[in-house]
Amino acid sequence: MSEHLTTVAGVTIDTRHFIGGERVASTETFTDVSPIDGSSLGEISRGTAMEGAAAVAAAKAAFPGWAATPPAERARILRAVADGVDERAEELAIVETNDNGALLRSHRRGIMPRVAHNFRFFADWLLKLDHEDFTTRGHTNHVSWDPAGPCVLITPWNAPLMLATWKVAPALAAGNTVVLKPAEWSPLTASLLADIAAGAGLPAGVLNVVQGYGSEIGDALTAHPDVRRISFTGSVPTARHIAASAAAHLTPLSLELGGKSPLLVFADADLDLAVDLAVEQYDNAGQVCLAATRILVEETVAAEFTRRFTDKASRLRQGDPRDEATDIGPTIHPRQLEKIDGFVQRALAAGARAVVGGRRGEGHYYAPTLLTDVAQDSEIVQEEVFGPVLTLQTFTDEDEAVRLANGTRFGLAATVATGDPERAERVTARLVAGTVWVNCFFVRDLQAPFGGSRQSGVGREGGNWSFDFYCDVKNTVTAPKGWKVHG
Ligand code: NAD
Repeated sequence: MSEHLTTVAGVTIDTRHFIGGERVASTETFTDVSPIDGSSLGEISRGTAMEGAAAVAAAKAAFPGWAATPPAERARILRAVADGVDERAEELAIVETNDNGALLRSHRRGIMPRVAHNFRFFADWLLKLDHEDFTTRGHTNHVSWDPAGPCVLITPWNAPLMLATWKVAPALAAGNTVVLKPAEWSPLTASLLADIAAGAGLPAGVLNVVQGYGSEIGDALTAHPDVRRISFTGSVPTARHIAASAAAHLTPLSLELGGKSPLLVFADADLDLAVDLAVEQYDNAGQVCLAATRILVEETVAAEFTRRFTDKASRLRQGDPRDEATDIGPTIHPRQLEKIDGFVQRALAAGARAVVGGRRGEGHYYAPTLLTDVAQDSEIVQEEVFGPVLTLQTFTDEDEAVRLANGTRFGLAATVATGDPERAERVTARLVAGTVWVNCFFVRDLQAPFGGSRQSGVGREGGNWSFDFYCDVKNTVTAPKGWKVHG
């Protein structure tokens, strides 16, 4: 087998970059390690400024052709990519699970179907875009959605292919070309996506994939003068760096960042549903940006809530994410595990009580944890842990619930459990969050806007919001026949 190929669970993956339709190797590599058992999944080409510049050049060269491709043809190719994803869904699922440790059953049932849906949805949306005309004193104003140019898309490791295609699909649908940089801890499915896209007939250079550490290849992408859009999903510190780098050319940015979202449980809620919603926050070992990690419970039901939560959480099965019976898999990397445990140990030292968990497990595993006796201004309540760690605080009335819920620098999401529709209306109106769920979690229509308030993000993507971002929206005003300047 070529030194540039690796095999994961029987699936062969090219470990080189994909630039201008060709596989390109770097002189250096980095080792991609499985969070399941620490085994090596392959030596991955480690991109530098040189490969970054080459990928942007390829995207720039391919742009005029793809931008001029009629929308119906672009949509046809994107649907073919979706078909390719469906055909290889099982392979993508098993590779993703080995690479980032999230549950195989989630990849099979929810995530890979959603990856294909991302392409079909934006292909359909492209053909439905509203080109409505307006008329002012006889002048028509025609709105067009022009492709913007090469886009740099930078993604994290917690839901690699789903988050990448959430950006790749609308960027391509809009007529742009793309340089995708997946996270260094989970690069494999992006490489498979490059194969699938090429097989579906996407022209060379329209989708480029470069791998490597953000600190080594990032600036070559985000400070590049030929890049017209940057969409980033990841942490707040990296976002600050990217925003500063993009400032050189005022490149428009979309930032989908971290969170510290609340779950508000009122005494009038269906308590079993509220407990289910709370336990659900351990999904993907808590490595979910939207996770409602701060549980806020009305004091009168707090003891009963905690009893039922503890009972349910203690029955969760933690183990190999490839096993269909597993509920919680490993955390992504020893460094992430260190970070999680640091937060928990500091919280315990500051007086928090671990009602559930509070310690490491074997290998990359961290025990699902619930901490009580935490102060609103403490680190564990204010900072994103990104692990299976929840806190529980109580409140006595709606005002206090809203004050606690809004009391961090984040504003990604919020969930409200209540049996009173009027309360739901009152409370949701006062919450600062990009997405608010009432008696549910995670469900979302791709037509709806997605993004964060405060430091959880800048901008919104989804439906028209994606096209607003990935297009140069243009208004062409045409005079009526015979119009004169000094008429
Ligand atoms: P991260 O910021 O460390 O890395 C994200 C990506 O940025 C990686 O591909 C990384 O290589 C790249 N990067 C790092 N430094 C860079 C630089 N200087 N220039 C360019 N790129 C650079 O984040 P992470 O640890 O991979 O992901 C976890 C974070 O992502 C959490 O904060 C989580 O909340 C957030 N997240 C947000 C959403 C959302 O939609 N809001 C979704 C998932 C994850």
